[in-house]
Amino acid sequence: MDLYEFQAKELFARHGVPTTSGIVVRTPQHAKEAAEELGCAVVVKAQVKTGGRGKAGGVKLAADPQEALERATDILGLDIKGHTVHQVLITPASDIDEEYYVSILLDRSNRTFLAMASKEGGVEIEQLAVERPEALARVAVDPLVGVDRAKAEEIVDAAAFDASVRDQVIEVLERLWDVFINEDATLVEVNPLVKTPEGQVLALDGKVSLDENASFRHPEFDSLVDSVETDPLEVAAKERDLNYVKLSGSVGIIGNGAGLVMSTLDVVAYAGEEFGGQRPANFLDIGGGASAQVMADGLEIILSDAEVKSVFVNVFGGITACDAVANGILQALELLAGKGEAVAKPLVVRLDGNNADLGRQILRDAANQLVEIVDTMDEAARRVAELAAQGA
Ligand code: GDP
Ligand code: MN
Repeated sequence: MDLYEFQAKELFARHGVPTTSGIVVRTPQHAKEAAEELGCAVVVKAQVKTGGRGKAGGVKLAADPQEALERATDILGLDIKGHTVHQVLITPASDIDEEYYVSILLDRSNRTFLAMASKEGGVEIEQLAVERPEALARVAVDPLVGVDRAKAEEIVDAAAFDASVRDQVIEVLERLWDVFINEDATLVEVNPLVKTPEGQVLALDGKVSLDENASFRHPEFDSLVDSVETDPLEVAAKERDLNYVKLSGSVGIIGNGAGLVMSTLDVVAYAGEEFGGQRPANFLDIGGGASAQVMADGLEIILSDAEVKSVFVNVFGGITACDAVANGILQALELLAGKGEAVAKPLVVRLDGNNADLGRQILRDAANQLVEIVDTMDEAARRVAELAAQGA
């Protein structure tokens, strides 16, 4: 889960990383009032979960409240790399002498953590990383030791920071490690970390990604999930604890097991080419013990997606045998009908594995006109794509 800049900086402040705080607003008038409250020159900053806001015109200085109103007018509603700006952060403007870069991240390919630092931070950091990689120090961090003082010194010296800021940057790195490890982050990044004319080191921007797999020990993560930048169907799925990802196609997919669902996406996309490019509408893994209620929840989410024209239920019976799954599908359809949600989209069901014959028989006996049983995954994918094309 990626955080907004203002949320990242709140975490920074909580863990002692020197940073600027501010006020988040959604209208130009409120931007003006926020600038009045701060009583100084401010920066108006687009709050969207993407980088490069500065270059896209999403970060503007404002000398007084009237200017803050004007800059907020410019920035609110702006499209930055496909993200519409709904809110801006009004924060005290800092004078900048130098811009640095520091980050700590999960380095999956090397199975460890990695710290990066450069004394040439700012909006050109990506270019720097490509053109002069030697100017961006990379130091592996042992997960069992973390960024202690010795490691922070190693990082700062690898990046050859000036003696005048050395101690402060060391301190910042240690505090950022606290953020990283205590908040269960996979990334904390500060760009720019600045030196002010007074010689103070300050995090002016912040990027934090939290590991959602750790949310069980962070009840506060819930409050960080925002419905603005998350698809409403994904929000609804999350509330029901469903492992759902919205995609852009027309074929709803339900399966049990992430691997099976992934391969289902592939076969549907492949089969769909024959029918005008029908594609999967979502990823949904209902897991091993697929109860009727979970099936109903899953179907409800998928059927409420207006783009879905047909649904593929692809289940391999294991611990939960196919007869239980078949009954689950029927109960799910009843549950939805009972809620007044008439199901009008065709379902193609492929059951295999434990008690597959029994499961198919149960569905045949029920004789629901919307449910078709197809024995193999490839044939089922073809049929569901065909139905999606007919429904389009
Ligand atoms: P990003 O472009 O999305 O990374 O947004 P940043 O928050 O990093 O801002 C982009 C650039 O705007 C920074 O690299 C700074 O050069 C500039 N900037 C941001 N905040 C301030 C500030 O308080 N004062 C000044 N003078 N410049 C700022
Ligand atoms: Mn930045």
